[in-house]
Amino acid sequence: MNEEKILTALDEGELEKLLSPAPSFRARQLFKWIYRDVLSFDEMTNLPVSFRDELKKRFILCDSAVKKRLVDEDGTVKLLVAFSGGAGAEAVLLKDGKGRCTACLSVQAGCPVGCVFCKTGSLGFSRSLQAHEITEQFLHLSRESSAPIGNIVVMGMGEPFFNLDALRKALFLVGKGKGLSPRRFTVSTSGIPRGILDLSENGPKAELAFSLVSAREDLRGRLMPGVREFSLAEIKNALGIYQKKNGRRITLEAVLLGGINTGPEDARAILDFARGLFVVVNVIPWNPVNGLCFEGKPLREPDACETETFIRTLEQGGQNVTRRFRKGRGVCGACGQLGQRLQQGGN
Ligand code: SF4
Repeated sequence: MNEEKILTALDEGELEKLLSPAPSFRARQLFKWIYRDVLSFDEMTNLPVSFRDELKKRFILCDSAVKKRLVDEDGTVKLLVAFSGGAGAEAVLLKDGKGRCTACLSVQAGCPVGCVFCKTGSLGFSRSLQAHEITEQFLHLSRESSAPIGNIVVMGMGEPFFNLDALRKALFLVGKGKGLSPRRFTVSTSGIPRGILDLSENGPKAELAFSLVSAREDLRGRLMPGVREFSLAEIKNALGIYQKKNGRRITLEAVLLGGINTGPEDARAILDFARGLFVVVNVIPWNPVNGLCFEGKPLREPDACETETFIRTLEQGGQNVTRRFRKGRGVCGACGQLGQRLQQGGN
C-alpha cells in the first residue's frame, strides 16, 4: 500500500497538497476528523457528501485492524494490531488510580535487540513499523479509552532508535491531532548513542528513559546482546549531551532479575553510572514470561527481600528511586511481556 494514500500517515500540509484544488480548510477539517477517532468517512458530517465520496475513492482512513483485545481487571487494555502485509504489534492502554490514561506504543514487529528477559526479544525481528502504523495504534487505543489519553510511552515492542524517523512522524501527527505536547511523550531506549544524539539534536523534546538493566558491562552485554557493541561510557556520554540540551531528568530503568542483577555490587554499579547525571532510577521487578532463560537457567522474579535491599542500597547512595507499579500482568501487557504472534492472537 502506498503510504501517501493512508490518511494516518499525513499531516495537514501534505493533505492540503493531495486535496488541491479543494480549499485548504478542507484539509484542516479532515485532519481534525482523523484524530476524533472516527471509523468511517460518513462520520465526517461537516464535509460535503460529494467530497466524502471522493475521499472514499482516493484514501484509506485506517490501514490496520484490531485482531485481539484483552482487558485486565486493573483496567489495562491490550490490543493486538494487525497491519497490511501480515505483521502485527501490541499496544497497551494503562490507567492510573486517578483515571489518567497512557498509551504504550510499539515501533517494530519483534525486536532485533533480543534481551533475554523480554518476550518481544524472544520472537526475533520481523520489521520496523511505518509512521501510520504507530499512529494507528494510538487511535485504536484512543477509541478504547473513556478519558482522553494524556501521555504516550514508547515502551512497547522494538527499539525506538532503530526506527526514529517513523516514530518522529507518528509523534508529530498524534501530538498535533490530539493537542499533546512532546513533554507528554517518553521514549525508552535500550541504549543507542547515535539515536540519543539524534533525538537531542532534532527532537521531539520528549522525556527519555534508558533501559540500563545492569551497569556491569559484561553482564549487560549478555542480557542485552543486540546492544553489546555500545559501551556504557559511550551511552553515558550521549545521555549527558541529551541532558545538557534538554535540561530534563532522565529515567534509568532497572529491570530486576532474581539472583542475576540484584546484588549490592549491581546497585553500586548503578550508583557509579548515575554519578554526574540527573536521573531517577525506576526499579522494575521482572514480570514473568514462561520459557525465558539466562545461560541455561529459567529466569525468576526477584523476591521481596532482594528488591527492598536493592532499593535501599540505591537510596543510601543518595539516589532517587521509584518503583514501577505492576499494571497489565493479567493480560501479559506489563513491561517485557508483549509479544503475541499475529497468528496466535488473530485467529
Ligand atoms: S526490552 Fe525492549 S529492546 Fe529489549 S528486546 Fe524487549 S523490546 Fe527489544
